[in-house]
Amino acid sequence: MTLAYILNPLDRRANDRSNAAWVLAQRQRPDARLIRIAGDSTLIKDGQLETANAASVEPTVFLGLDPQGTPWFACRTEEKEGLRDLRSLAMEEALPAEELGILAQARSTIQWHERRNFCSNCAAKLEVADAGYRRHCTGCGMDHFPRTDPVVIMVVRHEGRILLGRQKSWKPGMYSALAGFVEPGETIEDAARREVFEEAGIRVGAVRYVTSQPWPFLSNLMIGLIGEAASAEITLDQNELEDARWFSPEDARLMVAHQHPDGLYAANPFAIAHELVKTALEG
Ligand SMILES: [Zn+2]
Repeated sequence: MTLAYILNPLDRRANDRSNAAWVLAQRQRPDARLIRIAGDSTLIKDGQLETANAASVEPTVFLGLDPQGTPWFACRTEEKEGLRDLRSLAMEEALPAEELGILAQARSTIQWHERRNFCSNCAAKLEVADAGYRRHCTGCGMDHFPRTDPVVIMVVRHEGRILLGRQKSWKPGMYSALAGFVEPGETIEDAARREVFEEAGIRVGAVRYVTSQPWPFLSNLMIGLIGEAASAEITLDQNELEDARWFSPEDARLMVAHQHPDGLYAANPFAIAHELVKTALEG
């Protein structure tokens, strides 16, 4: 299984989407596809992504053109029948990886629109511009753009062992890499070191970037890192974590393979934490 949501094939045509006539022409193409989103879910029919005709329903956002030139749009839906959530679709590899990538873009963008009806500067109404990639304030003229929030997620190593933690709300047995939002004025490395120290009391030295993953719940960018611990004694922040431990390479390998005798496992295989544990074990 590969990471979910990372293979988005769309050309977003950022230079064209501010041209309303161009966007309308894409909408009116008979092959144009409209994804409908409700919360974390989309519509699935007979095991396939069910899209509507973009000319018949007003889309909220133009997503882009796929490699065949097909235009993709998204809007929200009130429909209840046939909804499947994006996590289960990823877990079950129920759709092509490219479609999961497009769905991540659709879900995050639609969610941004749902919560941005009024200007945060003057409270006047916002209107949609640039085919859904901008909202313009009718009062003060301020432009608002879709946000994505950087999250650092890090597997820390110490003498071959790796540090993983778990939150109380997670399914029994699941451990994952420590993670947290990057704060204003922080580098990625400093954010990762701060989070690991806050949550587990471990000082981290060298930090290396491994990979990233869009995480559309709500609109995060997971920045995957491996860090080398400069201390080993864990002091748990029990507000954040229920447990954090050093796992031996043997234990961690069994957790990655879902074969640990105590039922422990290292994150969901479609999530970046799983990938980071595998990379950390490879040295
Ligand atoms: Zn305003």
